[in-house]
Amino acid sequence: MNSRRNFLQQLTASVIAFNLPAYSYAGRNIFFNEMNDGPVLRVAIMGLGSYGTRVAEAMQSCSKAKLTGLISGTPSKIKTWQSKYGIPDKNCYNYENFDAIKNNPDIDAVYIITPNALHHDQVIRVAKAGKHVICEKPMALNAKEGQEMIDACKQANVQLLVGYRMHFEAKTLEIIRMRREGEFGKILFFQGLCGFTIGDPNQWRLNRQLAGGGSMMDIGIYAVNGARYMIGEEPLWVTAQETKTNPTKFKEGVDETIQFQFGFPGGAVASCLSTYTMNNLDRFFLNGENGFAELQPSTGYGPIKGRTNKGELNQPHITHQTVQMDEMAGIILQGKKPIIPVDGEEALKDLKIIDAIYLAAKTGKKVDLNL
Ligand code: NAD
Repeated sequence: MNSRRNFLQQLTASVIAFNLPAYSYAGRNIFFNEMNDGPVLRVAIMGLGSYGTRVAEAMQSCSKAKLTGLISGTPSKIKTWQSKYGIPDKNCYNYENFDAIKNNPDIDAVYIITPNALHHDQVIRVAKAGKHVICEKPMALNAKEGQEMIDACKQANVQLLVGYRMHFEAKTLEIIRMRREGEFGKILFFQGLCGFTIGDPNQWRLNRQLAGGGSMMDIGIYAVNGARYMIGEEPLWVTAQETKTNPTKFKEGVDETIQFQFGFPGGAVASCLSTYTMNNLDRFFLNGENGFAELQPSTGYGPIKGRTNKGELNQPHITHQTVQMDEMAGIILQGKKPIIPVDGEEALKDLKIIDAIYLAAKTGKKVDLNL
C-alpha cells in the first residue's frame, strides 16, 4: 500500500470537489479526512424523507463518513439538500437513472432509506452498480427477499449493512459486555416492549404493499433483534398472538398488535409486544440468575436510559446515526468487526423470525426456527 504522503499527491478532480485526499486500496479509491486521519466513506442517500433527513444531519458530525450524493424522485428536495450539503449536480439521481451511479467515483456506498417494499429491488440495483449498500430496517419484506439481496451483494462483491443503530449504542453495549462477562449469571428472561400510537391512516406504514405488514415490520423488529443481542443466542421457537381493535385503520395484513414469545437454547425465554396503538412502550428488560439490566427508553433516538442491579448506566449519549455511520465506514473500508453484527446475514435472521411470528399468529401454533 502507498504511503500517506503519496496518497496526498494523487488528488483527483472529485477529491478536490470534496476536499478529501485519496489513495487506492483493493482496486478502489479510498479518501481521507484530515480530522480522523483515516479513510472516509462517501455516501449517497436514497430517499430524502424523515429518517433520511435525520441521517444526513447526523452525518455532518461524522469524521469517517460524508454525504456526497442524493437519490430522490422529488427535484425540489434535491435542490434544497444540494444547497444545504454542497452536493454537485453530477452526484444527484432519481429512481429511474440511479444505476448510472456505477460510473460515479465520488460515491462508495448508497444508504437506502425508502419504504420497506422498495428495499429489495433498490439494494439489488445498487449492488449491480458496484456500490456498497446500507439498507434501512426491515431489510426486506420476508426472508426470501432478504436472501436474494444477500446473494446479489455477494455476487457483485459489495458489502450489505443494515441500519441497526442500537448495535453501536453505548449503554446497550455495556449491558452486552456485562452479560458476556457473566455478571448477570445464567440468562433466564428477556422482555421487549415496542410500540407507539400511529397517526395518519393514509401513510405508507399502514399500506401492506409498501410496508409488508404493520407494527411488527416497523417497531416490533426492535424487540426481535433486541431479544437476540440482549440474550446473546438465537431463538429455537416462536409463538405469537395477534389482536386488532381497529380493522378499518389496520387492514388485512397490517398488524396492529402482536405479542410473541421465544425459547432459547440456554433455557431463557422472551416475551415481547409490538403495537401501533399504545404509547410509552420502549422498554427492554433482561433477567439473569445473578442480576438484571433494564433500558427505558431502549430503542428511541435517545438519550437511552438504563440501569442494572449494579446501578445506573452513565455512558454518554452521542447521536445514534453519527456513531452508526462512522462505525459503518470502519466496517466497509477497514474491515472493522462490530460487537453485534450489522450485515445482511444478521438482518436475514430477523426476517426469518418475523416470517415465523406471522405464521405462528395465523395458525396459533408454535413454529420452530432453524437459524
Ligand atoms: P418517510 O415516508 O419519511 O420517507 C420515505 C422516503 O421515500 C420519502 O422521501 C419518499 O418520497 C420516498 N419514496 C420513494 N418512493 C416512494 C414510494 N413509492 N412511496 C412512498 N415514498 C417513497 O419514511 P421514513 O420514516 O424515512 O422511513 C424510511 C425507511 O427508514 C423505512 O424502511 C423505515 O423502517 C426506516 N426507518 C428507520 C429508522 C431507524 O431508527 N433505523 C427510523 C425511521 C425509519
